[in-house]
Amino acid sequence: MKFVSTRNRENIVSTGQAILQGISRDGGLFAPCIFPSIGDLESLLELDYREIALFILGSFFPELGMDYLKESIDKAYDDKFQDKEIASLVDVGDMEFLELYHGPTLAFKDMALSILPYLIRGAESIEKIDKEILILTATSGDTGKAALEGFANVKGIKIMVFYPENGVSNIQRLQMITQEGDNTMVVGIKGNFDHAQSGVKAIFNDMDLKELLDRHDYILSSANSINIGRLIPQIVYYIHGYMSMVKRNKIQMGEEINIVVPTGNFGNILAAYYAKNMGLPIGKLICASNENNVLTDFFNKGVYDSRRELLLTSSPSMDILISSNLERLLFHLRGEDDKLISRKMEDLVKRGYYDMEGMDTQDIYGNYAVEEEISWGINHLFQKYGYLVDPHTAVAYMVYRKYLEETKDHRKAIIVSTASPFKFGGKVASSIGIDIRDEDEFDILKSLSEKTGIDMPSSVERLRDKPVRHHSVVDRDEMKAMVMKFLNIGDIYD
Ligand SMILES: *Cc1c(COP(=O)(O)O)cnc(C)c1O
Repeated sequence: MKFVSTRNRENIVSTGQAILQGISRDGGLFAPCIFPSIGDLESLLELDYREIALFILGSFFPELGMDYLKESIDKAYDDKFQDKEIASLVDVGDMEFLELYHGPTLAFKDMALSILPYLIRGAESIEKIDKEILILTATSGDTGKAALEGFANVKGIKIMVFYPENGVSNIQRLQMITQEGDNTMVVGIKGNFDHAQSGVKAIFNDMDLKELLDRHDYILSSANSINIGRLIPQIVYYIHGYMSMVKRNKIQMGEEINIVVPTGNFGNILAAYYAKNMGLPIGKLICASNENNVLTDFFNKGVYDSRRELLLTSSPSMDILISSNLERLLFHLRGEDDKLISRKMEDLVKRGYYDMEGMDTQDIYGNYAVEEEISWGINHLFQKYGYLVDPHTAVAYMVYRKYLEETKDHRKAIIVSTASPFKFGGKVASSIGIDIRDEDEFDILKSLSEKTGIDMPSSVERLRDKPVRHHSVVDRDEMKAMVMKFLNIGDIYD
């Protein structure tokens, strides 16, 4: 398999390089040169999650070797997932929720980040690289913890996470700053997620730093969804979810379904688009945003305009104005026109917007939900079906309702459920009528558990007494210095 940069079609790299580099040197993202076909759907019906994972990872990353992949998959998707099926489909009325949050950090990021360390180690081995790897990650809350968990104490790798100081939930912050492992470092940024993300991108493009890292035998890689090694494992659960629907007689084999995805950086929904390109019968991809509705505007008007204030919402993992993975979608939809993509991405940096008028985005529907709607959705699902969702999933549910009302398209749908409600206890509790004034976070979660009869996840319970290990909060322009400090290289006052 080969991967090509979205900004330069002559820049074609191997599986190993695509995974290790994370982002292409020309600023583009690596996209697969072809989409392998999933072939005969029937042959996938009886496979379990791990077997589908082996099939998909083997199709995109055959160079890593089937034995190595199988071993990695068995270690990544083991009993650290509280769900035997890894990602279960749950019937709620005539909707299906695909619960992707039963991994160690209670958000869907675990689906890919529990395997990514193995993919990186494998890539290092086939590329015959014997250097220490520094993983740099910007997080809107969930990627950070899932990456820390995946990479903590992995030999030969160090991991550094930057999160927006005021842009994550209390539980998300606690999960990160109590992280153990000698090879981990967590840093708060005075700014929002976009600042953290652009800061990390700038570090990747900093040639002086690169040289310094070279001299100290470090290479940089990324655990963000710009890394193709994050994206491909996410295809697996769409196939697994589809097969679960067939098995339960919700649909006939081959019947098209719609997929609803609460979207931030556009990684999760892009994986669904990849599954569709491989032959999974998917009708519409429904892209659900919160009030940071740049993508809604884009799919409706053809103009991507980030010139607005980033709002902090109850679904912080979607508080993003620059959705990085959209670049891959545009690349595929515009016939891999690398020149065009480069121009548009340059426009975005220079002018804050670009237009893609006339582009066919018919397969995708975009809409958004505001705070009151999110509360209403959480409460409605709980009162009517006894089903509890987190605010991100509630965004997806509300957008799906709008979609149904507008289109009357009643094909069966999967709504992707991306986080445990206990990660966002305040919003969830207040939405179902619990008085949270003057209550501390853990008391709120206790009330939530009592009222709903759902146990508080043990990993959340344990957070209460865990010591804080990471105290740094810095200005954006200090990120590079923090990297040097962590690695103990260079003169940080240089
Ligand atoms: C990251 C995240 C999202 C957004 O996913 P993208 O792949 O960035 O679009 C949605 N919900 C939760 C809970 C997340 O952690």
